Amino acid sequence: MKDYYNTLGVPKDATQDEIKKAYRKLAHQYHPDKGKGDDSKFKEINEAYQVLSNAEKRNQYDKYGNVFDGSNPFAGGQGFNWDVNFTGFEDLGDIEDIFSTFFEGLGINQKRRTYKRGADVELMTEISLEEAKQGKVIELNYETYSKCEGCDGVGHEKNIAFKKCDYCSGQGRIKEVRNTFFGGFSQVANCPKCKGAGEMPEKPCSMCKGEGRVKKSQRTKIEIRPGVESGQIIKLAGAGEAGENNALSGDLYVRIMIQPHPVFERRGHDLFRFLEVSLVDLMLGKEIEVDNLEGKKIVTKIPAGFKIGDEVRIKGEGMTSRGDLVVKIESKTPRKLSKKAKDLLEDLDKELD
Ligand SMILES: [Zn+2]
Ligand SMILES: [Zn+2]
Repeated sequence: MKDYYNTLGVPKDATQDEIKKAYRKLAHQYHPDKGKGDDSKFKEINEAYQVLSNAEKRNQYDKYGNVFDGSNPFAGGQGFNWDVNFTGFEDLGDIEDIFSTFFEGLGINQKRRTYKRGADVELMTEISLEEAKQGKVIELNYETYSKCEGCDGVGHEKNIAFKKCDYCSGQGRIKEVRNTFFGGFSQVANCPKCKGAGEMPEKPCSMCKGEGRVKKSQRTKIEIRPGVESGQIIKLAGAGEAGENNALSGDLYVRIMIQPHPVFERRGHDLFRFLEVSLVDLMLGKEIEVDNLEGKKIVTKIPAGFKIGDEVRIKGEGMTSRGDLVVKIESKTPRKLSKKAKDLLEDLDKELD
């Protein structure tokens, strides 16, 4: 069992003042940045102080020799749960400097600002099959956060004074209690008001209320390359929401959807369509005329031995330069046949037998 009283070198009936004094002295002595510093000893001292400086925890520790609330700040490797009573923190004066250098020693800068990165923006746009084949430059209009022009993104006017943040008393960090099934865990998080800076401008920018960004309509051009597939996403880095106070911008993702076409269907590099041809023209092997996607008439010949339902391929008229236009020929019998036509077909029937 750990003897917290022994760690701090105080008697069991020590007053809060004595505990605080002992802690302060030892924390200075063993601070990892000091010549005689000792990382593990420093952690031990902190752990002892956190328990003994808290009446409830101290009571529990005195009774059971342990503290059960799960807030042991040094259990586990990562994520300290700094459970330092905040008023005590201030009373200790230069202790905050100790913590500051301690955090820096761990690679955690106590006053690190955490401005929110801009969110990504996702848009969808529909284009026609013809546009998808040719490619197109489209202009998109969307509402998003843009850098505030009033303050160039910094959130305040130039050359103004800063004041201590009243929310975190200038610490840049605040204690948060997270309630879980096992009880409350406390941890230190960046102050939401000053974003960890510990100070606030006396006069925040009136246009953006200090956020460094404002909602407004944004206009962006994107280039859709020829042969784009439906559902393809084009990414424009940095064209999403502007971040808070010049933090990184989000990205813009545009999903391209191709509208269905009444005649043509895309099949990879090819285009596909039906075409109705008269039965007689088919039998006579006549040239047929078919419109491509752009409406240009293309003349092609029905190959000999062609069967109903076969497809005719027209090279180079597909969705991309590698694709073809695939024409599925449909045919139907005439609704009415004249006496003469019937006789001709009877003769033809005998001829083909
Ligand atoms: Zn603050
Ligand atoms: Zn502004």
